[in-house]
Amino acid sequence: MREDGKEKKMANSLKEEFLRSQDEKGKSTAFSFLDLERYALPLLKEAGVEEAELDLRLLLQEAFSLDTKDYLFGKREAVFTLYRKRAEEKPALSSSRVTGDLALSSSADEEPDSALNRFFSFLEKRLHRIPLSQILGRQEFFGLSFLVNENVLSPRQDTECIVERILEEEEKWKSLGAQDKRSGKKIELIDESVGVAGCEALSILDLCTGSGCIGLTLAKNLHCKTVLLLDKSDKALEVAKENYRRLFLEQESAKEEWKCSMLSSGREPDPNRIREQGLNPSLHFLESDLFDALPSFMEEKGISAFDILVSNPPYIRSDVIETLDAEVALHEPVLALDGGGDGLDFYRRIAKEGKRFLLPGGRVYLEIGYDQGTSVKDIFQKEGYREVEVFQDYEGRDRGLYAVSPT
Ligand code: GLN
Repeated sequence: MREDGKEKKMANSLKEEFLRSQDEKGKSTAFSFLDLERYALPLLKEAGVEEAELDLRLLLQEAFSLDTKDYLFGKREAVFTLYRKRAEEKPALSSSRVTGDLALSSSADEEPDSALNRFFSFLEKRLHRIPLSQILGRQEFFGLSFLVNENVLSPRQDTECIVERILEEEEKWKSLGAQDKRSGKKIELIDESVGVAGCEALSILDLCTGSGCIGLTLAKNLHCKTVLLLDKSDKALEVAKENYRRLFLEQESAKEEWKCSMLSSGREPDPNRIREQGLNPSLHFLESDLFDALPSFMEEKGISAFDILVSNPPYIRSDVIETLDAEVALHEPVLALDGGGDGLDFYRRIAKEGKRFLLPGGRVYLEIGYDQGTSVKDIFQKEGYREVEVFQDYEGRDRGLYAVSPT
């Protein structure tokens, strides 16, 4: 996150203005979170921030490292008193706070004034319509916390329905037993102790992966042998790699530690417990303009083709981008949004070039814009894909395309 001199100055003057207003009320440094809210809320509303109340609470919680319960209970107390009290309670607090994804970035014994500075710096950014996710540096997707920054599209809840659809379908096929509906192939039964019985390990290609939210969530939830995350932007791939590291490698080392402690305690590791935590598939990252660099990479890695091709490609019409919310239009990467003159450029390329990378019976799942169902369906049907179908998000709008490889 950038913080140039000008931004810092503005954050300082917001803080000074706030402190002056409290002085005038005779509160000096005895102000509460409620006072901070009363000062900042009108500013956020005036700047056009839609969910101003919620955003404000989350920024305050983040700046002061408070969970929702502590925040709501302490809202009327003097901020600095509450902060000091927490510092005294620190040992008890730290042990009860290790759960969950909330990154408690500050230590409880730092000066309360640094937390206040942090809040005003967040506020200043939000007034510039920098998305909340970029200020917090994370966005939740499908129950997982993803690192985000200005180089990736922040994961949207809308996109979860694509992941949901894939998981549902895989579940269905798994329950069909040993016969693979798609290829008629016999499914090799996999050892119960290492994978999901009756289901072949999948190879998945996630195009325009951005933060990696789709591919990594699938890797977490499915029995995969290969997951390839591809993006044109090296900066986006850096984010995807970091998310992989956080979601898989850090947890993997925790798992190892757990196994070691089980062994040293003389108890047999419980295979159920290992299965629950899943297998780590082989994850690949590739910088490529859609399929351009894919053939040579697959050859090098010995990957023949994919069972699933998934993507949330850029699909906004070029002329619509500047009319979107300021958060998106000014602060999210245009590269992740711009789908060309009619918004359909990527669907044409994926439909045309994608088939040669799919296994027989391989499936395509794409996010689409709410008004693109008919056009995208048409593109895929004309390219010979089978079972082409548009599906809806949780609000009933067209949001996804499903298609089966022509072969
Ligand atoms: N749904 C995104 C938005 O709200 C656009 C995503 C895309 O172009 N893939 O802006």
